[in-house]
Amino acid sequence: MIPKTSETHHWSDELKRALVDPLSLCQQLNINPQQLPGGIEGLKKGQQLFKTLVPQPFIKLMQQGNPRDPLLLQVLPLGAENQAVTGFVTDPLQESKYNPLPGLIHKYTSRVLLTTSGACAVNCRYCFRRHFPYAQNSLSSSGSQAILDYLQKHPKVNEVIFSGGDPLATPDTRLATLVKQLESLPQLKRLRIHTRLPVVIPSRINTEFLNWVTKTRLTLVMVLHINHPQEIGAELIQALGRLKSAGVRLLNQSVLLAGINDQASILAELSEALFTQGVMPYYLHTFDPVAGAAHFAIDDKQARQIYAELLAELPGFLVPKLVREYPNQPAKTPLGW
Ligand SMILES: *Cc1c(COP(=O)(O)O)cnc(C)c1O
Ligand code: SF4
Repeated sequence: MIPKTSETHHWSDELKRALVDPLSLCQQLNINPQQLPGGIEGLKKGQQLFKTLVPQPFIKLMQQGNPRDPLLLQVLPLGAENQAVTGFVTDPLQESKYNPLPGLIHKYTSRVLLTTSGACAVNCRYCFRRHFPYAQNSLSSSGSQAILDYLQKHPKVNEVIFSGGDPLATPDTRLATLVKQLESLPQLKRLRIHTRLPVVIPSRINTEFLNWVTKTRLTLVMVLHINHPQEIGAELIQALGRLKSAGVRLLNQSVLLAGINDQASILAELSEALFTQGVMPYYLHTFDPVAGAAHFAIDDKQARQIYAELLAELPGFLVPKLVREYPNQPAKTPLGW
């Protein structure tokens, strides 16, 4: 039995109510924007590059009056974003060359990414996808038949990953139709969903979603994206409970971010909190050199030091793999010692 959700707000309404103005966000949190590094000017400039988008359930997890709140810093535009830093480029992963069809990225042998939606429910300032031309590269412009044909020509692919943007920004009717088509290919074993949506709008895990999830023959894996233990609130815990009851395997990936989670104690607390809720830590990504986000970068020496402390603090199964994505490698690469 899947516990029923209360569903007072449909997630799409939550999305419509998300804040798009950084000044209103400061106001709601009782923060004087002049206290921020770039001041009001900085907020406005950052906004021009990548607009603010933050749903209310995520704002509710932030501390009032704290301009250094680790959740706030992930979403608030700052003037620092406008500094061009050498080596920080707009397509650090050079994904465009692994993009045989619109909406499909095939870089690793056994799995393909499908970008089911270019949109997200939250705009994270550090995101390496902020410069990716999603509008021209969405799945709908490809057509699902072309995707199925491609997969049949590549029989080593046994797993499809819904990615984005955020795949759960797509309505369930569309997702369910796509999953049905994918299920018809015997080569596919798993469906993986890379999403941050349940973290920022936990009501996304509703009955409509759970209906198709419980019906599919594919093994469902959800890789959440949580960077800080404060992101695990009561509503998310309930949503995770619904996912577990539906048999979904839960993993988490984080990005190592300066000023947010660059301490072993925070990462250890995150792993413990995830495990308590049945989520296994999977990846800890070193930061990609994306234009406009240099202020989140942590150098390799410091990353290794934090990781060594984390290894010393946790049982092995709670330590995420510290990895980096290089443009031409066949898998994510563990950061060497
Ligand atoms: C990260 C990624 C995957 C998934 O890799 P795993 O190591 O299986 O999690 C697949 N394709 C692309 C292009 C990726 O960037
Ligand atoms: S793709 Fe993920 S990390 Fe990037 S903005 Fe969307 S939710 Fe945030």
